[in-house]
Amino acid sequence: MFCPECGRTDVELFEGVCKDCYLKGYQFLKIPENITVTVCKHCNAKLEGGKWQEEEIPEEEIIYRALENNIEVDELAQDEEIELEIDQMRGTIAECYVEATATVLGELMSEAHTPNVRINHTVCPDCSKKSSGYYEAVIQLRADERELDSEEIANAEEIIRRVIEKQARKDKLAYIPQIATPKEGKDYYIGSLKTARKVAGQLKEELGGTTKESPRLITEDKNTGKGLYRTWISFRLPKIHVGDFIRFNSKIARITAITGSRIQVEDLESHEDISLKWRDYDSMEMIASEKDVEKAMISSISPSWIQILDPEDYSPIDFEMNDKFKDLNIGDEIEVLKYENKIFII
Ligand SMILES: [Zn+2]
Ligand SMILES: [Zn+2]
Repeated sequence: MFCPECGRTDVELFEGVCKDCYLKGYQFLKIPENITVTVCKHCNAKLEGGKWQEEEIPEEEIIYRALENNIEVDELAQDEEIELEIDQMRGTIAECYVEATATVLGELMSEAHTPNVRINHTVCPDCSKKSSGYYEAVIQLRADERELDSEEIANAEEIIRRVIEKQARKDKLAYIPQIATPKEGKDYYIGSLKTARKVAGQLKEELGGTTKESPRLITEDKNTGKGLYRTWISFRLPKIHVGDFIRFNSKIARITAITGSRIQVEDLESHEDISLKWRDYDSMEMIASEKDVEKAMISSISPSWIQILDPEDYSPIDFEMNDKFKDLNIGDEIEVLKYENKIFII
């Protein structure tokens, strides 16, 4: 065959010319001279195809990925090897160097390109919410029928901080823009409802208590009719503490443990351990606390009963013998609770 470009004969033609003429001016790698990437200056999230990618990647990596995503290799190229380099940063522009080798039509070729990657710093929607103090939920820390004490607040805040820290790895709205101190307790404003729910769940699991969510409509989008809701999550620590006494189902019992799923009590008459559920909480009446406990002296013991002296008038009172009392001796002091003219050994 004859090449119309250089006049050589007996050559194979590619798109009408010989291989040498075809490869003259041919480039197997295409990359735009100027590439722009939009990056959030606060969290480094990257805008790609109209979507903000959440991943936290270093700026250098963003530049390399921008180069990779913009490289096109011609289908004639085989065994291509591409090396990317950031030559220097000039302000927000990375001057890059792309060196590539490939085999094209049996010939080893190499190319160099010098594209610029411009980093367009802006603020992503989540970071812009954060900087404006946006919040979707408020956790109201309260104690039921009493005031919170400072130890309870410190315990709750340790849990809140721990959950926020963990959530922040996957939820950019896991932050607390504001803490308010109304007289009933503490209010923690939380960026996202999702994280607020996690916080409330963990508080309940570790401290016991009850939670209640109440969403409120804040504004309505006039065009779409869609409402913006904010959710108040009330977390109430129980009125009862471990060691307190309650009346429940006409039984008198002492609280022995409180967990997220149960309230453990000891029935003061049968001395049985009973596990109560949180849904029974509202029917529990608190009748006494640790400070109401008195001491009484054991005056007599037999195999079937134990006798103590009323701490006030020293009148003798008999109780049926119980496993719990069998190691006691006459003269020992034991703890009792006096309630509605009845004495309970505890
Ligand atoms: Zn030719
Ligand atoms: Zn951001």
